[in-house]
Amino acid sequence: MRRMNARSSDVNSLVSQLAAALGANAVSTDAARLELLSRDAYRGGGLPLATVRPTSVEALQQAVRLCAAAGVAMVPRGGGASYTDGYVFPAGGHVLFDTAGLDQIEVDTASATVTVGAGVTWAALREKLKALGLRTPFWGPFSGLVASVGGTVSQNAISHGSGAYGISAPSVLSMEVVLASGELMRTGAARGTRHFGPDLTGLFTGDCGALGIKARLTLPLLAAREHFQALSFAFDSFERFHAAQRAAALAGLDDEHFGLDVALSQGQIGQQEDVGSRLRIAAAVMKSAPNAVAGLQQLLRMAAAGQRVLSGGAYMLHLIVEGSSAIEAKARATSLRSVLLPHGEEIANSVPAFVRALPFAPLNNTLGPRGERWVPLHGILPHGAVAGYHAALAAFYARRKADMERLGVITGAMFCGVGTSGLLYELAIYWRDVRTSYHRSVIDADSLAKLPEYPANAEAAAYVEQLKKDLVALYAEHGAAHFQIGRAYPWLPRLDAPARALVQQLKAALDPQGLMNPGALGFVNERAA
Ligand SMILES: Cc1cc2nc3c(=O)[nH]c(=O)nc-3n(C[C@H](O)[C@H](O)[C@H](O)COP(=O)(O)OP(=O)(O)OC[C@H]3O[C@@H](n4cnc5c(N)ncnc54)[C@H](O)[C@@H]3O)c2cc1C
Repeated sequence: MRRMNARSSDVNSLVSQLAAALGANAVSTDAARLELLSRDAYRGGGLPLATVRPTSVEALQQAVRLCAAAGVAMVPRGGGASYTDGYVFPAGGHVLFDTAGLDQIEVDTASATVTVGAGVTWAALREKLKALGLRTPFWGPFSGLVASVGGTVSQNAISHGSGAYGISAPSVLSMEVVLASGELMRTGAARGTRHFGPDLTGLFTGDCGALGIKARLTLPLLAAREHFQALSFAFDSFERFHAAQRAAALAGLDDEHFGLDVALSQGQIGQQEDVGSRLRIAAAVMKSAPNAVAGLQQLLRMAAAGQRVLSGGAYMLHLIVEGSSAIEAKARATSLRSVLLPHGEEIANSVPAFVRALPFAPLNNTLGPRGERWVPLHGILPHGAVAGYHAALAAFYARRKADMERLGVITGAMFCGVGTSGLLYELAIYWRDVRTSYHRSVIDADSLAKLPEYPANAEAAAYVEQLKKDLVALYAEHGAAHFQIGRAYPWLPRLDAPARALVQQLKAALDPQGLMNPGALGFVNERAA
């Protein structure tokens, strides 16, 4: 690939060309902005030479053409809510594409589709569709207040709607992707049809921006169902929790669900329960309820349960079922109870009621309950491999117990079914370390002020980095797959030889200079070292 000579005259020339093409306001070389946008929830990377914020597909194409001509790496960033180095480019000297300006939403009620700019947030999309009585099948990750549709689809995500409709990928019909040449490529037959021959839309789901920059995406629509029931169950062992989760997945009754171990239930989720947030939650519960009586009943249940619900057992499973009428939602909840009660005990439903009321909560959880630094990692295991992985993880933690205690490193776990055959087993790691500009940008000042602050802690940070690597290797030993691969999980080496050769040729065809998010998905070139 061509390499850009880092001489400042070349840099200045590209920056002025970008400013001339996009307008000066769409291009920034402000040091604080470069630093902030080069950082994810876990860590920072090399500084970009500029950030661009195109507001139209044509402007995005033009910016890509200029970078390609200059031989400069291009890195797309959506809401920036990831933590797997997806847009963290270690070498620096790139142009960072901030897609937030691609924020148009076009609803086509006749074809039951919505076409969004890649930078549209899930919260903005939900607001727009709610007013029309509509929704998309998958309707966003918990980070949807800032997470974009383009960024989410680029790394595969799971949460809202995933119980019934799966991860983000099946909820996309077609995409318009700007390739490294600046050409616009349309996937799918038309905006309303995905499958017309081999699935080109699927190729760009989970690509972490290594194959191009998504400009527009078309998603299918469903009628929104305002009636719901929230249910929570506690289990005294992981085995019982896992059996219950599998049974619920096979029954296919919920719109979404997630499991928590006791550490996360009392820590990260418990942190939402301060007095200030309670008032906000109460207002949101009333707003999300189909009517005032249902809202008040939910608030009374939550008040009566108080903190007890947060620690009802070793593992908790929280579920939301929907219905097009109150009777249907109740009937589904009754069926689900009969599936789950053989395995555990029903507890108060404050946690899923909170999630339903505030599906896109502020990103306060990017710091731990006592202001610790936070990084999650995950693997998707076939159900048959879960017990073996769980036992191996317990042995892994036991071997490191003394070091983790000495360095104040703590962990928790969260779970979600992936269809009927897989379990997403997510680990959250916390350690005491200095907060960054990222946390100051996503957590409001009042919430930050309530949390303890810590000085830089290089020893614990280095330990966590190694711990992460070792945990990623443990996932691989048990055959786990990953969403949001970014630069954190090995993908290419785990493909068999024909598949690896195919995707390498594909990358070379779509991005011959190796300039599109180098290093993401493991497509390494000399700039990504
Ligand atoms: C508090 C919190 C809660 C979270 N909850 C969930 C959850 O419930 N479920 C879940 O799956 N994940 C979750 N995440 C992880 C993450 O937020 C999501 O995966 C989210 O969807 C990422 O979207 P984003 O727009 O922020 O992407 P970014 O972080 O901006 O980017 C992600 C990747 O996509 C690429 N990219 C971005 N935009 C484009 C584009 N237009 N074209 C091509 N490539 C692009 C980037 O280069 C990067 O590789 C959570 C994170 C946080 C901090």
